[in-house]
Amino acid sequence: MKTSELFRNRQVLSFEVFPPKPTSDETVIYKTLEELAKLHPDCVSVTYGAGGGANCEKTVQIASDVKNVYGIESVAHLPCIYLSESDAVDILDKLKANGIENILALRGDISVSTVPNGRFSHANELIEFICGRYDFNIIAACYPEKHSEAESFETDLVHLKNKVDSGAGQLITQLFLDNDYFYHFLEKVRKIGVNVPIEAGIMPVTNKAQIERMVKLCGITLPSKFIRVLERYGDDPAALRDAGIAYATDQIVDLIAQGVDGIHLYTMNNAYVAERIYASVHRLISSDTTRVG
Ligand code: FAD
Repeated sequence: MKTSELFRNRQVLSFEVFPPKPTSDETVIYKTLEELAKLHPDCVSVTYGAGGGANCEKTVQIASDVKNVYGIESVAHLPCIYLSESDAVDILDKLKANGIENILALRGDISVSTVPNGRFSHANELIEFICGRYDFNIIAACYPEKHSEAESFETDLVHLKNKVDSGAGQLITQLFLDNDYFYHFLEKVRKIGVNVPIEAGIMPVTNKAQIERMVKLCGITLPSKFIRVLERYGDDPAALRDAGIAYATDQIVDLIAQGVDGIHLYTMNNAYVAERIYASVHRLISSDTTRVG
């Protein structure tokens, strides 16, 4: 099923997982998926490490298992910056052969040690390429606080509109820790005619190093409310985990109440954290059918 169809009459809950690192226990991701499957998410997306393309086979395999073993709709992430046209065709053909219908089409994170292929420089080029040859549902990334490399919020919106006009039928945001950024962004994108469903990307912050990495990589703002949480619980892992779950739950309750199209939970492969958040919010999601924005 194309996940864009899910948004027709209700709010959507999706989870994101990443493939295991080459050195780690490969069976752990399947234990995580078993736990996540019990929560009956609308879909699960599987990331793909852009630099070097090492994760391609794993992304294809896990995305296929999500769909064909666990019976959950799956989304395969596909970053293009290091792909040639034939690499892209190879991966897309495999995804199609495995029954996957949804692609999160991305430029990808830039790695200093790998030279871009040159065929695809931006996500819109991959979107055009896929739409010209295949029948996948295309999802694209968006940035409530603007993408870290964008000249301005406005130019970033122009590029976002271009991705939608090129064929993206659904968007997922980068994580944010202050919902006001999301509401401001939503107002601006709707004004320029971006009318596709937009899922709010929420990451429960459960350790200090993780959020420091995200701030550096993505340029997200830490609101003072969140800084106080970090100052108070940053050196106590169990307390920070509980505080991070409570913070993300608060964000989600507010977003659902405001009529968000959907919530995309960056699970960080932590089924326990996803379960706790799910327990607090799933009744709110399934009973609310009002869309705004
Ligand atoms: P683009 O849309 O190409 O935008 C990148 C920058 O270029 C922006 O500043 C934009 O304003 C500008 N731009 C866009 N189009 C043009 C154009 N035509 N001409 C000039 N400038 C342009 N990364 C991974 O490697 N693997 C993953 O699995 C992954 N999953 C992600 C999931 C989500 C939900 C999100 C939000 C991000 C994910 N990322 C992933 C990170 C993403 O790859 C990075 O944020 C990357 O830096 C930008 O990707 P993009 O697709 O948004 O790029």
